[in-house]
Amino acid sequence: MRPSLMYKTVWARTDKQTRQPTGRTVGPRTYAGDVTARLETRIAHIAEAALAERQFVTPIDVLIGLGWLTQPHVDRWLTGRVAALGLCVAVDSDKTAAALAALSAWAHDRGLKPWDTDYGDHSFTTGVDADAERAFRTRWAVSEQPAPALPRHRPRGLTVEEVEYAWTCDSCGGSGDLLLTTTTGISCLDCADLGHLVFLPSGDAALTRRTANASRLSAVVVQWSRRRNRYERQGILAESDAIEVAARQCLEDADARALRRQRDQLRREVVDEKFRGDFAEAIRMHFPGCPSTRAEAVAYHAALRGSGRVGRRAAGRALDPDAIRLAVTASVRHVDTEYDDLLMAGVDRDDARDRVRLRVEEVLAAWRGGLSVLDG
Ligand SMILES: [Zn+2]
Repeated sequence: MRPSLMYKTVWARTDKQTRQPTGRTVGPRTYAGDVTARLETRIAHIAEAALAERQFVTPIDVLIGLGWLTQPHVDRWLTGRVAALGLCVAVDSDKTAAALAALSAWAHDRGLKPWDTDYGDHSFTTGVDADAERAFRTRWAVSEQPAPALPRHRPRGLTVEEVEYAWTCDSCGGSGDLLLTTTTGISCLDCADLGHLVFLPSGDAALTRRTANASRLSAVVVQWSRRRNRYERQGILAESDAIEVAARQCLEDADARALRRQRDQLRREVVDEKFRGDFAEAIRMHFPGCPSTRAEAVAYHAALRGSGRVGRRAAGRALDPDAIRLAVTASVRHVDTEYDDLLMAGVDRDDARDRVRLRVEEVLAAWRGGLSVLDG
């Protein structure tokens, strides 16, 4: 049965029960206590019906049953078209909180247990109110299963898989924690030209959403869960600049503690400063025309990667001319051409590389000869 039909059933039943004559008078006697009692009764009916039908009750069931939220809003939210479901609730947050408290009280009376519901990266609140977020995610049931099924929509854009088994890249023979499946096989992040991106773990939906918006190139990281028999989002890969921009936006509406948490998260990526300086110097030697801000940026990313995934020996190897050329070439491809846009649009990597090859070679030749290239 489709969820919308299910909710309709719940609503219809509730409607009938609450509107049937009960002997309760309305009008002058509708003082606050009476209103609360009526809300509790309505919520109990809604929750009983949902429990009978699916063996669990979610705050969404209750808000829909009360007529404060509609199924189309929930559908739009689940497919990522609504930033925060709380924005779609027709009443203010105090009323919503009162309803969730009534649901919780009813559930305790019924001997039900609270379970955290996995809604992926979809959030209810716009801010970082962890308590409100948790209340929304809590469903009430006797046992953890059954649980609401998330729509299996494929995330738009690129998806990278985190794997624990041994595998080798079809292009370079290398390996790693993350792989990308392309039309031609499986690829490591470097060969897929995603090596410059930084991993942002799931957990802060607002930060994730803002980062994805600010990042020209980004990929969703998923991992197969054997227990749940489905792919689960682990986080995203995004440009480090985009994460910083997004974190700054989040700080503007976050309290001081959440603020520090986000900063610490960013600082976990420690940059090897000496390696960074050596790398920038080597770029300037081989590509005298490369603007120094760019050389610094390329070196920064190389150092980020050096600290995270590559060992010391590999960092030493990374200073040879071939590695320098590859790093600068990758930067030109990402920054000076429409390559990232082509990838995001779903164009195959080899195809996209062919399309931008001439432009890349043009820029590299100019930089080698000591000429800077202006945007063109
Ligand atoms: Zn590779």
